[in-house]
Amino acid sequence: MMDYLSGLNEPQRKAVLHTEGPLMIIAGAGSGKTRVLTFRTAHLIEQGVDPFAILLLTFTNKAAGEMRHRIEQVIGKQAKNIWMGTFHSIFAKILRFEGEKLGYTSSFSIYDTDDSKSLLRSIIKEMNLDDKVYKVNLVLNRISAAKNKLISPQSYFNNEVIRNEDRMAKVGEIGAIYKTYALRCFQANAMDFDDLLYQTNILFRDHLDVLNKYQHKFKQVMVDEFQDTNVSQYLITKKLSAVNQNICVVGDDAQSIYAFRGADIQNILNFEKDYPDLTTIKLEENYRSTQAIVGAANSIISKNRHQLQKNVFTSNEKGEDIEIIRATTDSEEARLIASSIFEGKQRDGLNGSDFAILYRTNAQSRSFEEALRKLNLPYKIVGGLSFYQRKEIKDLLSYLRFVVNQQDEEAFKRIINLPKRGIGDTTIAKISVTAAENNVSIWDVVSNIQQYSGKGAQAIENFADLIKSFKIMVEVDKKDAYDVANHVAKASGLLRELYEDKTVEGLARYQNIQELLNAIKQFVDSEENEDKSIATFLQSVSLLTNADQEEEGDIKEKVTLMTIHSAKGLEFKRVFLVGLEEDLFPSQMMLASQSDLEEERRLFYVAITRAEKRLYISYAESRYQFGRLKTCEPSRFIDELDPQYLRISKLGGKKEIQGFKPVQKVGGFAQKTPVNQGQQLVQKAAPSNYQHISSSNFTPSNPLELQVEQRVEHQKFGFGKILRIEINGAERKAVIAFEKGVGEKTLLLSFAKLMVI
Ligand code: ATP
Ligand code: MG
Repeated sequence: MMDYLSGLNEPQRKAVLHTEGPLMIIAGAGSGKTRVLTFRTAHLIEQGVDPFAILLLTFTNKAAGEMRHRIEQVIGKQAKNIWMGTFHSIFAKILRFEGEKLGYTSSFSIYDTDDSKSLLRSIIKEMNLDDKVYKVNLVLNRISAAKNKLISPQSYFNNEVIRNEDRMAKVGEIGAIYKTYALRCFQANAMDFDDLLYQTNILFRDHLDVLNKYQHKFKQVMVDEFQDTNVSQYLITKKLSAVNQNICVVGDDAQSIYAFRGADIQNILNFEKDYPDLTTIKLEENYRSTQAIVGAANSIISKNRHQLQKNVFTSNEKGEDIEIIRATTDSEEARLIASSIFEGKQRDGLNGSDFAILYRTNAQSRSFEEALRKLNLPYKIVGGLSFYQRKEIKDLLSYLRFVVNQQDEEAFKRIINLPKRGIGDTTIAKISVTAAENNVSIWDVVSNIQQYSGKGAQAIENFADLIKSFKIMVEVDKKDAYDVANHVAKASGLLRELYEDKTVEGLARYQNIQELLNAIKQFVDSEENEDKSIATFLQSVSLLTNADQEEEGDIKEKVTLMTIHSAKGLEFKRVFLVGLEEDLFPSQMMLASQSDLEEERRLFYVAITRAEKRLYISYAESRYQFGRLKTCEPSRFIDELDPQYLRISKLGGKKEIQGFKPVQKVGGFAQKTPVNQGQQLVQKAAPSNYQHISSSNFTPSNPLELQVEQRVEHQKFGFGKILRIEINGAERKAVIAFEKGVGEKTLLLSFAKLMVI
């Protein structure tokens, strides 16, 4: 057995050995929080705790998988039995067992976001509301926020504050939509993602016998990434550990990046109040990154006002400075980065998987994909439209869902006329109305269509017979997931329809279905899955998070592309943090308030701290957006990094601006405007009393522009006087004394937004 205690520092070991009573570890990035949870779990089992009695909640299912693997290396096969996974997957499992108490059957469907939106769209239409005012995304967000705060439809109505907010925003009917939506989900024997937590809370509130059972079952409860739990999740863990008080949470308030989805930093503060016997352990040593990266990260997070005091250091090497890459356009940015990765693989012998490109929004991936493809560099995109969200995949899954749960209205609507069998929207609407009028389910109407409707019912009858035959396979013959799916794909006509479509897209869709069948075969063949039913397969699929996607091919070879949100908890040797431009990162949508800006800054902190050895930060001076070339300013976050850890990249630095020239605007900040196509690059600054200084016009050949004692204006720090100019190779820094209590700052001149006055 591995000696797990020797791989821990003193406070980490203390945390692992603390097995009785509440424990909280709030510590900086890369300080070994996740490692502590892994070893602590192994230790508990070593000490004789039954793996079935351990509940370990992680941020992604993949993270749980990796931890399980590590624990297995310490304690062996028993690791299989630990209750590990995301909140959603763990409590979906419990709701399968206990949902009957709330009126759901064990085969309830899980509505994904598409299903929820489709249902909301129908409801908004049925209620004759204007769908331009009642935008589906907005409505879904409001309902989701309510559920995550455990506000029922009833309490929504009674909550004057919320109702007033809605009225002010002229969406006063959201409460009514919520009520209908909740009812329709219930009638469809379906839960949406938020329900998995919301209904668990209801279950534990209203069925104390059930709560009691799980309180005694779980002797130990642990939560990773605790800073991103919402109220609903917090209450669940609190209730579960109320009896034995063995709860251990780890997190980093500086990495809280899900407030927009209801995560509540208050949970950390409440924890101390809720558990007076709490032991708190600090971890201060970062094992992941170089000194330069840790230093830069510290300099950023210190700019946030609302932060718990933490001291993070590392004994790792000083490491290379962080490289700032300036590119002319977004495609140049991608090209520079792709070739740096290419070089890193060739020259430094790194694998593709040692690199990650992190961006603020999914849409940014396109230019990087192109650039990587040109250099034949394999990559994978985490997040975005996942395999399981593709139309053909959802079609087959909807068939399977309906076979398992005939009340699933969204699945029904998707498959009733697929492949086309001449059943139109009017007929479908009639079925719904008939079901409502007779107070029976849609399936009751469909499967007894003769009773309800005389003519034109043949197609529906055929459909019902088809579903009945599938049901027999599942319920009577007890066929496994693969046999059922394979048969359904063929007998439904889905596979044939795709086979007959000889276009490139048709072929791809056909292959995707085959790929899905492969995945189901794998699921059935895997020793880890005891229950091989189609219902269990469906559940595992619907609970995949963005970061959980299946990986094909040689994993070691692939560069990872993902949003910063999905990168939480991960680490890579080299990280490229791209698109550091105002309005993109920080995102324009997050500039409204100080607290939103602080959340963006935490996101920046998360991104920086993913890097082990080297970090590159890039921005483009112009970027295509909505079909137009837009001029961009470097992000304020670059300005905020302590310049002692930075250097201008050789990658982008030597390249001069092309197609753009600095143009002045009297009384404002320098703006750049495109020059006519084909026009020669003009490097000289236009004559004016204001001047924008960047590496392109501030070179040793024109030192006149900046002198010691000169007065300057900075976009954020205001007016100041230059005390010193430091020149180091191609890099220039100015030490400036700013007025109004801002004090002395050292700024890297290539992107500091400075005006000479
Ligand atoms: P994050 O906040 O990003 O989730 P974390 O605090 O969970 O980070 P880990 O991922 O557990 O940190 O650890 C970061 C890296 O440091 C990992 O590669 C881990 O194996 C390593 N590490 C942690 N503690 C030690 C230690 N005592 N000795 C050697 N390596 C360690
Ligand atoms: Mg972690």
